[in-house]
Amino acid sequence: MDTPRDALSQGFEKARQGLQQVAQSSDLPNFDSTGTRALEAWFLGPKAENADELERFIVEAIRDQAFWRRNFHPSDPTHITGEMKRSPEYLEAMDSLTEGYQSLLAFLKKSVPFFSPRYQGHMNWDLTIPGILGYFAAMLYNPNNVAFEGSTATTILEILVGDDLCQMLGYTIPDREAIDRGAIRPWGHITCDGTVANIEALWSARNLKFYPLALQAALQADPALAAGKSIVITLPTGASRPLIELDTWELLNLQADDILALPTRLTAESQISRDTITASLAQYSLQSLGLQEFSRRFLSQIDKSPVFLVPGTKHYSFPKAAAVLGIGAANAIDVPVDKDARLNMAALKDILERCLLEKIPVYTVVGVVGSTEESAIDPIKDILALRAEFRQRGLEFTVHGDAAWGGYHISVMRDDFDMPEPLASLVAAPPPAVPLKHYVIEQFQALGGVDSITVDPHKSGYIPYPAGALCYRNSAMRDLVTFSAPVVFHGDAEPTVGIYGIEGSKPGAAAAAVYLSHRVIRPSKSGYGKIIGEALFSCKKLYARLLCMARPEDPFVVVPVSRLPAEVDGADLAAQIQFIRDRIVGKTNQEIINDRDAMKLLAEIGPDQNILAYAFNFKNASGQINTDLAQTNRLNKALYDRLSINPGDDIYGYDLIVSTTDLNAAQYGATFITDYKHRLGVGKSAGDSITVLRSVVMDPWVTETTKGSFLDILEHEFRKAVTAALAEIMPTQTGRD
Ligand SMILES: *Cc1c(COP(=O)(O)O)cnc(C)c1O
Repeated sequence: MDTPRDALSQGFEKARQGLQQVAQSSDLPNFDSTGTRALEAWFLGPKAENADELERFIVEAIRDQAFWRRNFHPSDPTHITGEMKRSPEYLEAMDSLTEGYQSLLAFLKKSVPFFSPRYQGHMNWDLTIPGILGYFAAMLYNPNNVAFEGSTATTILEILVGDDLCQMLGYTIPDREAIDRGAIRPWGHITCDGTVANIEALWSARNLKFYPLALQAALQADPALAAGKSIVITLPTGASRPLIELDTWELLNLQADDILALPTRLTAESQISRDTITASLAQYSLQSLGLQEFSRRFLSQIDKSPVFLVPGTKHYSFPKAAAVLGIGAANAIDVPVDKDARLNMAALKDILERCLLEKIPVYTVVGVVGSTEESAIDPIKDILALRAEFRQRGLEFTVHGDAAWGGYHISVMRDDFDMPEPLASLVAAPPPAVPLKHYVIEQFQALGGVDSITVDPHKSGYIPYPAGALCYRNSAMRDLVTFSAPVVFHGDAEPTVGIYGIEGSKPGAAAAAVYLSHRVIRPSKSGYGKIIGEALFSCKKLYARLLCMARPEDPFVVVPVSRLPAEVDGADLAAQIQFIRDRIVGKTNQEIINDRDAMKLLAEIGPDQNILAYAFNFKNASGQINTDLAQTNRLNKALYDRLSINPGDDIYGYDLIVSTTDLNAAQYGATFITDYKHRLGVGKSAGDSITVLRSVVMDPWVTETTKGSFLDILEHEFRKAVTAALAEIMPTQTGRD
């Protein structure tokens, strides 16, 4: 019978052979000795300074496409003749195209000016030139990475890029011999975005949780698996028991690697083929039966719905994932965050204790590595340590790192790998890269221990949409979300990768964009680490500027969400602010670099990464700070109104653009909201939703330009806007400042 599964397997085999051939040829693309170090060569630039270069490369892609077409069976007929090109219909069509194109180009001017230093809003800045070129050149070939057949070049690029992202994030790729001996191999692929990557991560975690239940049933009932009936498995507590003897709760609390090894072990120990296992499991798996039938058969002893835990700062993709996967958004449990908007470990522990006590299965605990609103990094190291503790007590779950925003930031601390020695003469005095906070370094060092990681090349990779990615620590995780029999994965002869995910057709151009960008700009200190390190420097300088912006005579104050180290340690806060005022604000980059103490403090201040959240408050007529949260929110909404683009407007009229968000107690928890309200001066006021302004600072060049620090202009624009907003909400305040 030619079921879709059989058809897939056949396509698979062919793809595998094709790939083996390509792998043997010498012109296989790679990342060896290719990185470069000049930031100024990587972007088009705020004034399109690299326009000539970009144009030359783009024209080359078109010319090269033309050569390619002409050389493919050169004697095949041409179709579009000179005569046709002179026909009235042709000329009319071209006129219409010209007109339509020009009006589209004009309309596109209503777009957001992400490239400008005046844009300090969402997660967007300039794109890397290699990213643009990789996308453009590959787009002309229109490859579809859903299957190798439609992407004979770009599927290979996706595999390369998947490995590169895994290595960047801290997953080690063992050599082939080690893999043959059973070492765990990571695997990553390109998704359309971080949302889909997060959904896939939970999809695989959900299927992993239920896999042992299905396998136990199959072992018990299916004669085809009889030989494997006595297979034993190690429990998280260390004991070994036959799988068929475990009760439901034990089956729901096995370690990922032990579960994922089962199919291979059944083949090795009991000579049951992978196809037989896949066919048998299809009669019992959640994937086939659906939640209702699966629960009826296997979960009757579990009264509480399984859950996954996410910090209150979670991205919207998690409730979506819960809904799509039938988990239920109510079972995506918010863990409150601490005063720094990081997942609160004590609260997590309490929730896990309850899960253990009440036998609530836990799919996954999510740690966010760079939250969307404030770039807070959750304590990944402590989450992993806590899991080890609960594992001993019989509660097991996977840990997912949502590094959609913050994954590339690890390159700031990653030593250059496969890069040539630096050139002696570099581009003149680039802005300095700032080191990461000690806390952040610790979390990045632990990141390789999580089971899956989402990372978005189209965010901190400065690569065109759509390019998200999901990386698994153990490549066998991907087999849980496909309908075809797993293949043994060595990494260099991998069949089509498009079957391991939610998406169908997907642009091979996206993989080419990530590939070329990573080839020119390596995800290590001298490559992405340099862009992001300099962007962090910009962000921290802007943070310091906002922190110190309000003078005693100003009718407003500015309160960043990020607390100062002195606030965290209970040290002398006023002295620290004075230090920042004297040694950072208003100092040139070079002066700061030469000042060891200033650099040291700079590394530790501001957000964990480069997203600033901050709010203004105002002083009333007697000079007292307003104590009513509703009024504070009104001011910040009025400010946002002035600093955001209205639909249909001509964007040339905007002098500064930021974004906004509301931080709520329902998600963030009382600790964070109470503390921030207190710092804003509205601690006694009712209300638990705080409107903040938000600036994602991705621009590495904003601190120093040929015309001085652009931060002066940004401060000037903030002053202009706050004066106008105050006049609007409090007419009596006009005339001050
Ligand atoms: C942006 C983001 C996502 C979702 O990514 P998209 O590419 O926008 O779908 C998920 N998690 C975090 C933390 C994000 O910042």
